[in-house]
Amino acid sequence: MAENDRAKGLEAMESALSRTDQLFDSFSDILKQEYGSSHQKRDFSETARRLVPETEPEKPTESLFEQAPEPEDERLHMSFASLTSDAMSCTRCGLCSTRKNVVFGTGCTERPTLMVIGEGPGENEDLQGLPFVGRAGQFLDKWLAAISLSRDRDVYITNTVKCRPPQNRDPYPDEKQSCFAFLKQQIAIIHPQAILCLGRPASTLMTGQSDASMGALRGRFFFYDGIPMICTYHPAAVLRDLNLKRPVWDDLKKLARYLGLPAGGQ
Ligand code: URA
Repeated sequence: MAENDRAKGLEAMESALSRTDQLFDSFSDILKQEYGSSHQKRDFSETARRLVPETEPEKPTESLFEQAPEPEDERLHMSFASLTSDAMSCTRCGLCSTRKNVVFGTGCTERPTLMVIGEGPGENEDLQGLPFVGRAGQFLDKWLAAISLSRDRDVYITNTVKCRPPQNRDPYPDEKQSCFAFLKQQIAIIHPQAILCLGRPASTLMTGQSDASMGALRGRFFFYDGIPMICTYHPAAVLRDLNLKRPVWDDLKKLARYLGLPAGGQ
């Protein structure tokens, strides 16, 4: 090798090694900050989410709105008052026989900034006829406040099923499907600027991805009939496992950024 070529080769190698060294230093700092100095198996998924630039929401190729079967008797774009009154006397599934109250929804019904969809009423909700009034609901109010939203002013809150499943079990698929007719009408009439799905029952129903895990659905934007929609963990799940607070906060910040809302704190 000519002396000249070798000098060029050394220079290139030195520069490559120096860049690798810098990368190694920053990576090592991240590892120490995030995971300490232990040599246990590390989960890099959250770090990767933060380091890789955000992508804009993707439009699904076909409208998810079309994927659920329509009940025979559905009248699209009826008034909100008549929809509510239909729901109050609904006997489309077995949950009507054990409910104390139909929990249809609460909040702003005219183009709210956000529509929140939970799983189904619990005991307190069944007694009061209002969604998210128990401990999970108080936690949800804090999440909303952290992205500058208030439940009465800017948000409409409802559930996949409007009647309490006995012993707070997950709603059965047929119960969710029967009640989906109401949910679709609520969305069509209220026309929120964005939708937030809380927990797996709401997230799988609304995305049509019935087998997906919450980990796979959270933090991604979907479009439901043209409305941007994001899924995250249910507040009750976060109260059971505080490690979920961080991913929820990431998801809420993503939603806030999309809606142009200040996101203040956790
Ligand atoms: N959990 C839900 O999913 N919905 C409620 O209304 C209350 C608790």
